[in-house]
Amino acid sequence: TQAVGVLALQGDVREHVHALEAVGARAVPVRRRSELDAVDALVIPGGESTTIDKLLRAFELVDPVRERLRAGMPAYGSCAGMILLADRVLGGIEGQQTLGGVDVTVRRNAFGRQVDSFETDLAIDGIEDGPLHAVFIRAPWVEEVGPAATVVGRVEAGPAAGRIVAVRQGPLLVTSFHPEVTGDTRVHRLFVQIVRDTQE
Ligand code: GLN
Repeated sequence: TQAVGVLALQGDVREHVHALEAVGARAVPVRRRSELDAVDALVIPGGESTTIDKLLRAFELVDPVRERLRAGMPAYGSCAGMILLADRVLGGIEGQQTLGGVDVTVRRNAFGRQVDSFETDLAIDGIEDGPLHAVFIRAPWVEEVGPAATVVGRVEAGPAAGRIVAVRQGPLLVTSFHPEVTGDTRVHRLFVQIVRDTQE
């Protein structure tokens, strides 16, 4: 079984752990470097990207995570996790850094005040058996996609129709929405499949 770390500095850590275990992975909370070293992959939960950025620095995890990402470690980032895995961020606070890895520009809190949290059904390339219920909470969207990255999901209806909300780049997967709150484990299943494929 794959050991999938869940960055446990802030956010829905327990929900991600449960979803990963439901799809057959061994889920391990990661707060220290030694814990990072022991996992095959990493999930970065939603929360507040500015806070997670500060905590990553305080826990001296920025360089270790960047090194693992550069070495090809699979990672999945949801919402704030998407921001942290993006190469470029708009609407960040002064000095906000990302870990990078995915060749996209994301915009923080992009959906605006009227619809800053909403739910909608959408399709994700690589996920079968019908649309996914996507929950957005003060979410970013992807404003620009570089040549290395592939769009795998967009909002399909409503005022934000067409906005890019899921991107894949090799072993990296990012979504604007929070799959861990719905009980639908298909995004986690896709990610664990990516982890398995990477190991082969
Ligand atoms: N707005 C948050 C940020 O900019 C993300 C929100 C979330 O992760 N639910 O980091």
